[in-house]
Amino acid sequence: MATKYVYFFGNGDAEGDESMRPILGGKGANLAQMAKAPLSLPVPPGFTISIDVCQEYYKLGRKYPADLDAQVNEYLNKLETVFGKKLGDENDPLLVSVRSGAAESMPGMMDTILNLGLNDKSVVGLANKTNNPRFAWDAYRRFIQMFGNVAMGVDHDKFEEIIASVKAVRGIKEDTELTTEELQTIVAKYKEMYKKEKGEDFPQNPKDQMWAAIGAVFGSWMNERAIIYRKLNNIDENVIKGTAVTVMAMVFGNMGETSGTGVAFSRDPSTGENHFMAEYLINAQGEDVVAGIRTPMDISALEKQQPEIFKEITTIRNRLEEHYRDMQDMEFTVQEGKLFMLQCRNGKRTGPAAVKMAVDMVAEKMITKEEALLRVKPDQLDQLLHPQFDAKALKSAKPLAAALNASPGAGCGQIVFTAEEAVEWDKAGKKVILVRKETSPDDIAGMYVAQGILTSTGGRTSHAAVVARGMGTPCVCGCSDVVFNGSGKVTIGGKAFKKGDFISIDGSTGKVYGEVIPVTPAAVSGDLETFLGWADEVRANSVRTTPSGKTVKGFEVLANAEQNEAPQAFRFGAAGIGLCRTEHMFFEEPKLTSFQKMIISDSTEERKANLAEILPLQQKDFYNIIKTMEGRAVTIRLLDPPLNEFVQAETPALAKALAKKLKVKVDFINKKYAELNEHNPMLGHRGCRLAITYPEIYEMQVEAIALATAQAEKEGLKHDVRIMIPNVTTANELKQIRAQAEAVIAKVNESQKTSLKFQIGSMIEFPRAAATANAIAEVADFFSFGTNDLTQTTFGFSRDDYSKFIDSYLDQKVLLQDPFKTLDADGVGVMIGLAEEKGRSVKADLHLGICGEHGGDPASIALCYKLGLNYVSCSPFRVPAARLAGAQAVIKANK
Ligand code: PEP
Ligand code: MG
Repeated sequence: MATKYVYFFGNGDAEGDESMRPILGGKGANLAQMAKAPLSLPVPPGFTISIDVCQEYYKLGRKYPADLDAQVNEYLNKLETVFGKKLGDENDPLLVSVRSGAAESMPGMMDTILNLGLNDKSVVGLANKTNNPRFAWDAYRRFIQMFGNVAMGVDHDKFEEIIASVKAVRGIKEDTELTTEELQTIVAKYKEMYKKEKGEDFPQNPKDQMWAAIGAVFGSWMNERAIIYRKLNNIDENVIKGTAVTVMAMVFGNMGETSGTGVAFSRDPSTGENHFMAEYLINAQGEDVVAGIRTPMDISALEKQQPEIFKEITTIRNRLEEHYRDMQDMEFTVQEGKLFMLQCRNGKRTGPAAVKMAVDMVAEKMITKEEALLRVKPDQLDQLLHPQFDAKALKSAKPLAAALNASPGAGCGQIVFTAEEAVEWDKAGKKVILVRKETSPDDIAGMYVAQGILTSTGGRTSHAAVVARGMGTPCVCGCSDVVFNGSGKVTIGGKAFKKGDFISIDGSTGKVYGEVIPVTPAAVSGDLETFLGWADEVRANSVRTTPSGKTVKGFEVLANAEQNEAPQAFRFGAAGIGLCRTEHMFFEEPKLTSFQKMIISDSTEERKANLAEILPLQQKDFYNIIKTMEGRAVTIRLLDPPLNEFVQAETPALAKALAKKLKVKVDFINKKYAELNEHNPMLGHRGCRLAITYPEIYEMQVEAIALATAQAEKEGLKHDVRIMIPNVTTANELKQIRAQAEAVIAKVNESQKTSLKFQIGSMIEFPRAAATANAIAEVADFFSFGTNDLTQTTFGFSRDDYSKFIDSYLDQKVLLQDPFKTLDADGVGVMIGLAEEKGRSVKADLHLGICGEHGGDPASIALCYKLGLNYVSCSPFRVPAARLAGAQAVIKANK
């Protein structure tokens, strides 16, 4: 039997259903589902050409598989029979739309062609049959424009110029004011221009039109904006393999005052509130809403104008939400008082909306907590943690204009007018707000880098709004107070601005300000707190068996933080600090100078004197961290500085400046620099190697830690301080350092009359440490995997220099992922597994965690869970995302 490539829907039934999304794409699968029982919604009939054909099309060098032609013909006949009209009929033509649709929605990124089937003859038939010549000629001019641009590559502006010239003759503004005769003139001019551009007449044969449109849709899978969209949204082309093409009978929203077109969300995609949010345009086709050409009205207008239709669409909204158990994004058309559903899908939403809907739907008993946790992507949480305008500054700021609050968050930056400028200025380190009449999918790169987007036309469902929400970029749209006055100038609420001037926009309130308003950091509260509380519960209750056969309970999220970041880590719900890099505590003056003096000391006495200067400063910082964390774990890593980072004297100017600062001679700095300079500083005299050569350094640090903890204890503060030794390669290093540390702790206990005990653990950052983890475990109370160095040394890639070649590796698919971003399961993961097995063979409940940058990456977090680690530790700003990603790893592992 020939492979089945085409699937029918309509007339109360369908060959596919929602489960066939990988074959029919989201749009095709949902149309089939809506058409058949139990939903049985009014869907215009049509057929879907499968995603398999898209794959074949590219495999065969942009050609179709042999059977496709016959199958499409058969289904076109079926469509004609069911709908009672024939494609190309000169008296009563069937018109179709040709639409794209991948298994994951990519709104606006691929092509769609409407009104297909019109030509010089059928347009007359359509005019007579509908008794509405204006409608027919408008449909024809739209078709020539869309087909010419999308399928044949004629510049969109060339069409717009023609419309503008015809409108200018009579001085009219709106397309809806064009008369039939003017539309006929436009059609004639379009065809003339088309012939000039393409060197041939506009195609009159509807089947030729259809195949060209199908080819254009398959071709659009590989257009630049679709490729960029997939890259930005991490859409894996091995999973989402192409687009389907749906050919569907046209129904018309532009047949007069009882017709119209709408886009609706069953809940507010911007805030998540549970109210029906829809926009409707009377006497228009769907593309007018999506393209943001006209600003639509709220659905309440439909309620007044056509209450029956309003009731019907409201009922459908409820039924679809109940069926899919998720927020639905719907497109519908009303043709002369009859409602048709053109599309439904799980709606895109902002991070705040995703969290609110998840929390609300659990309260409504629509979904379980676990389902709710899987509904939100960890990266979406960043949008809730965006800076907000400083409340005080906002109070005294005066808005110049207000419009639709299309994507929440505060943005402040310099005005640019094109996406290209946005990209350029961003590269130059400037923050920009993209101000446009409307945006198109080609602007995607500029929208991505902008702090905010402001448009003068378009509604909440316009391209700008949908894409901005997806990216989490603040957006205010449909702001008619934004008036463009020729290149490089704009007035906002009557005030003149030029490129480079600063404005601020608030995507949550829709307000626009002509000034800089400072922004403040966000915190976890409200729905997000509830939601992350569920994530914490799931992780806390988790139980798994590691590959080595050990049972591990719980999975915590800690933060990598020093004195300045600890408060943020605490606010974002870190269960403790998994890595306090003590060398980072010296980035501030006057500590930096003392630290540098210590590094360049010529003798042990001198070094000890400098260390003595540092001790109270360290002690104070440690004490503050312990106090901030209120009894949660604080893991302090003893010094691990690649020395080159602290003694920079490679040029005479740098050497001179450093000598002046440290009050020594330039010659001395040059001599020290020569001594300290290393070929591979990352593998050089750092970490515990420093402590083997200069034990006094760690001794000072341990003393500062013990004194800070003693102080906390005396004040009745809770504390759980752990000491961590970096860069361990042999058990003997740790054994020796541990003995020295314990001696210092004993001394402090004696002088302070305390009986403090500290866990002393080892970082595992080298293959040798993993291979000898059993011996290290004999002298370690815990392990923390430093996966930055473990990746560096397992791959043999310098973490400071790999950026020179990683792009070539990724482009040529030599590596599928950047191993410094996502933990390499096959190599580095094996090292971790080895250390887990060997370490726990000595101490069955040895506490294990990870503190490399991978600790904030969802895929790496899932691997850590699988390998049996007790916690991940990441940057404070990633903590909320990691709390969720960890819970998702638990839920998926239990499925
Ligand atoms: C690591 O190597 O992963 C680590 C956390 O240590 P650092 O990045 O400070 O070398
Ligand atoms: Mg390291």
